[in-house]
Amino acid sequence: MAVKTGADHLKSLRDGRAVYLDGKRIDDVTTHPAFRNACATIAAMYDYQADPANIEKMTFASPTTGDRVSRAWELQRSLAEMQARRDALMDWARLHFGFMGRSPDFIASGLAGMRMGYPILAGLDKKRADAVRGYYEFARDRDLFVTYGVVNPQGDRSKGASDQGDAFHSVAVVDEDAAGITVRGGKMLGTSAIMANEVFIGNVVPLRDGEENYAVAFCVPLNAKGLKILSRKSYEGSATSAFDNPLSSRLDENDAVFWLEDVKVPWDRVFATRDIKMSRDIFHATPAHVSHNYQSQIRLVVKLQFLLAIARRIAEVNGIIAFPQVRETLGKLAAQATMVEAMLSAIETSGQTTADGAYYYPSRQFLYATLCVTQTLYNGFVNDIRELAGGGLIMLPSSIEDFASPEIAPWIRRTQRSGVTDAEGRVKFFKLAWDALGSEFASRHAQYEMFYVGASFVTRGYMFANYPWAKGEAMLDGILESYDVASELAKTGRKPADRRDGGER
Ligand SMILES: Cc1cc2nc3c(=O)[nH]c(=O)nc-3n(C[C@H](O)[C@H](O)[C@H](O)COP(=O)(O)OP(=O)(O)OC[C@H]3O[C@@H](n4cnc5c(N)ncnc54)[C@H](O)[C@@H]3O)c2cc1C
Repeated sequence: MAVKTGADHLKSLRDGRAVYLDGKRIDDVTTHPAFRNACATIAAMYDYQADPANIEKMTFASPTTGDRVSRAWELQRSLAEMQARRDALMDWARLHFGFMGRSPDFIASGLAGMRMGYPILAGLDKKRADAVRGYYEFARDRDLFVTYGVVNPQGDRSKGASDQGDAFHSVAVVDEDAAGITVRGGKMLGTSAIMANEVFIGNVVPLRDGEENYAVAFCVPLNAKGLKILSRKSYEGSATSAFDNPLSSRLDENDAVFWLEDVKVPWDRVFATRDIKMSRDIFHATPAHVSHNYQSQIRLVVKLQFLLAIARRIAEVNGIIAFPQVRETLGKLAAQATMVEAMLSAIETSGQTTADGAYYYPSRQFLYATLCVTQTLYNGFVNDIRELAGGGLIMLPSSIEDFASPEIAPWIRRTQRSGVTDAEGRVKFFKLAWDALGSEFASRHAQYEMFYVGASFVTRGYMFANYPWAKGEAMLDGILESYDVASELAKTGRKPADRRDGGER
């Protein structure tokens, strides 16, 4: 295969997958008004990498086939390779301004991390480790867009997967035979499932003893027999025009609940089955979890740069940029965006080498610190920009149709004023700002940035487990050991009272 193009990707999505929206099954996501523009955005990413001007930067030659595939699949061996790969992924993120959270490079990064951890997995279960390695090569060599569903659907979170009143509330093993396993149940939350090629089903959340039936990890094509993709409301579908909803009309990556109705998974795609340790270790003992979340930080740097440009433009359009308080807010936002960039740099420069010395992967300490900080930073960042904007985000014509009305258009021209642009320019900009900051699409992004890697108590748990506590503790123990009651009293010629007088025995 020559390098994958947008047309190749769109063709691959016409595969009979079972996507459901508004009570109906969707025949072709690439042409349906609820999904077609998001599909086209992903296609543009593949066209960008296939452009002869970008091919060297964006792709590398598969060691198996020699064909060029996305750098997202590359197994970095050094800091320099990691930085070159990051530059490519950042170019990709700029095409969607950081709004496509589960773009093709997200899970590709995670699968690459799993592959880097092959020796660890082989130590646990050689056959399943071979399946991970084989699938990585299969997906890489076809430059597949893989997404994932690795969280059990919400139900009663105080109870385990097996205690939800339905043994198949979450994906569980039904049966196994010589060909593979059969699975049934639900998973959340398949972002990009409508427009990816395959899905990784697994468990990033710990399972309890006795829940072995749920301890699975595997990949299947999104048109696998029995796999249902239950879409949430489409923001693209309710976007009235590119002028009114410039972001949600093109960048609604969609989220969906998966239902697997006795889906058959062949053994060469089963990475863990009835194995709680393996299903967790493929993420956390290998560089997988840090690798896909490192990609998320590359994307977030781009998104914050984009939002910062919106913040400054609001101040310019409204003529408030010279006010000291406004500059202070812009300075604060710029400092926060710069801090996230600096943390990305630290994730890279403090990276680690796999135990076999073969690969270089992102620093666990700095990656988890960045996740903890950014999942709470995002909403404050957006809120500060909304504070700069005032009612300008709402003081807008109902739709582009108002500009076509000879009666209404003159009133728009008289009420939409700015020192730096005309009425059309002002409305155009503030419609985009609302789509990024306040629309239903924007609100979904607020939820995404808070939860895409897990709730905050989960990320803080990762941080707790990966912080090198010994550094500070060595200092603390050093100073505590440098004095005691006896040595301090001795300085004034005294000594401690007999301990037994204080009740100690
Ligand atoms: C827009 C969006 C897109 C997503 N895309 C994907 C995707 O593509 N693939 C995927 O697999 N997942 C995806 N997710 C799902 C995401 O992984 C989960 O939302 C996340 O792991 C949090 O789990 P939860 O939603 O079940 O929240 P819960 O675990 O139910 O937590 C919600 C809140 O309940 C409280 N809580 C729950 N349990 C505890 C506890 N044990 N101790 C203390 N407090 C607790 C906390 O206040 C917590 O913030 C996405 C989520 C969103 C919002």
